[in-house]
Amino acid sequence: MLMLATEVMLGFMGEFDLIETFFKRPARHATLGVGDDCALLAVAPGQQLAISSDMLVEGRHFLSTVNPRHLGHKALAVNLSDLAACGAKPKAFMLALSLPQVDPHWLSEFSQGLWALADAHDIDLIGGDTTRGPLNICITVLGEVSATQALLRSGAQVGDDIYVSGHLGDARLALEVFRGSMKVPEAVFEHARWRMEQPTPRVALGLALRGIAHAAADISDGLLGDLGHVLKASKVGAVIDTQQVASTLACTSDPQTPIQLTLASQLALTLSGGDDYELVFTASPDQREAVVSASQASQTKLTRIGRVTASPDLVLRAADGQVLPHTFASFDHFKSP
Ligand code: ADP
Ligand code: MG
Repeated sequence: MLMLATEVMLGFMGEFDLIETFFKRPARHATLGVGDDCALLAVAPGQQLAISSDMLVEGRHFLSTVNPRHLGHKALAVNLSDLAACGAKPKAFMLALSLPQVDPHWLSEFSQGLWALADAHDIDLIGGDTTRGPLNICITVLGEVSATQALLRSGAQVGDDIYVSGHLGDARLALEVFRGSMKVPEAVFEHARWRMEQPTPRVALGLALRGIAHAAADISDGLLGDLGHVLKASKVGAVIDTQQVASTLACTSDPQTPIQLTLASQLALTLSGGDDYELVFTASPDQREAVVSASQASQTKLTRIGRVTASPDLVLRAADGQVLPHTFASFDHFKSP
């Protein structure tokens, strides 16, 4: 693309050398990968493409000090998480990169984090764009899902069970420790930080839930917010068992490194934490055995946290049945661990 500035080289290495060195590998599945004006991707009969983009901006989504290998992993992981939420099988991705300078060590580490996760999901990097500018990483993922099986936010039905995968709240715990508003033992922090920097996209679970879940979303902005999107799209409400939600916090349930947090802090972390990249989904109570099978097949822990209701409110219930105000899960509680 024609540039306003005269600079066409990104430091000592040109744009094309950089792409060739770090981001070009033979395509294994795509008809045509990096190097031409367009990539070419065939779609199997009866399937449709599931497409999603997520951008990571330095200072907003990650700290400048983050390990670039972890950043490469996370940039792809947050995108794969969206495909997981749709029940789509990942096929390929595109990478648009804005870099302040060419740092071969940084690029090598970043690309290795990216390739490791791409290989784990057997997907091709088929193209992208590279330019000089503030550090900014935008990935677009492409997946495949049959026309009738995509999991949507709009499918929740009254009476459905509500589930979440894995553990909630770890990433937010790490962020609060970074910010100095919470203090936890080193081992707890390291685990939480690993979860923040190296989230596991629940692709296998999303695939296993096709034909079982009525609705799903991935949890990137906190459970309450993302479940709220599902409820709104489905025109329903929910009653949530907050004790079950709090039980998903890894650091208070891990016998190796038990820590004490007030229930208020546990709820703030798990209900409103963000950056979890777990799935929240609904399924009919008739499907409980099938959900257990999906959990086993995908080796993903699931917790049943509530029920879909006809009344359009999101009600938080305590263990004793009392209704909790939403402020109970607010960020103030991070100040009182
Ligand atoms: P154009 O000038 O047509 O926009 P580019 O010169 O930007 O094409 O890119 C050349 C080729 O390199 C294209 O196939 C493009 O998809 C690919 N590409 C550019 N940047 C990246 C990147 N960061 N990762 C992977 N492929 C890239
Ligand atoms: Mg270009």
